[in-house]
Amino acid sequence: MLLALAFGFVWDLCQYGLHRLQHAIPFLWETHRFHHEETALNVAAYPRSHFLAVLAVVLFNLPLVALFGAQAPHAVAAFLMFPLWGFLSHANLRLGFGPLTPLVVGPQLHRIHHSALPEHRDRNFANLFPVIDIVFGTYYRPAPDEYPPTGTAGERVGNLRGATVQPFIAWRAMLAARRGKRGADRPAAAGALGWRGRRAG
Ligand SMILES: [Zn+2]
Ligand SMILES: [Zn+2]
Repeated sequence: MLLALAFGFVWDLCQYGLHRLQHAIPFLWETHRFHHEETALNVAAYPRSHFLAVLAVVLFNLPLVALFGAQAPHAVAAFLMFPLWGFLSHANLRLGFGPLTPLVVGPQLHRIHHSALPEHRDRNFANLFPVIDIVFGTYYRPAPDEYPPTGTAGERVGNLRGATVQPFIAWRAMLAARRGKRGADRPAAAGALGWRGRRAG
């Protein structure tokens, strides 16, 4: 049991890093936004992920499995624990964990991560252990009755498109925008603007 918890903690630490990158880097956000679009957060939102995001998690877990071993009881327990906990933390329940809130992620805490309100943006990335958010300064403890609306602002990509081609469409638009910008910068590049100036602009 202790080994399962240790494995779970290391796993959550790693997924925390990946999860923060998915929110911080527009290129990676395109594979994660589908998970965040659900406006009525519920258990079905947990597996609602783009296949590239699932692939990233699998690739990310391989070194952990190599390190801890794939068949060891703790690994089996942890792999059972993560999905089950994922369904619970996405449940559409008005369920706060009271004094246990900073100890284990529950539906209310993870709802903050999915909140549509700006004050909750980029908070509560951990899947199991809120202490990771506490240590890295991304923890938000909800008030007892705080159950914000969920979803993303702006255009929704829809189910089929979101689960399949959306990131590729977005990446192509990003590349085109970058190429257009580079073209527009070219006359100025001969002048005083260095690399930094062009990036900041
Ligand atoms: Zn997220
Ligand atoms: Zn989620």
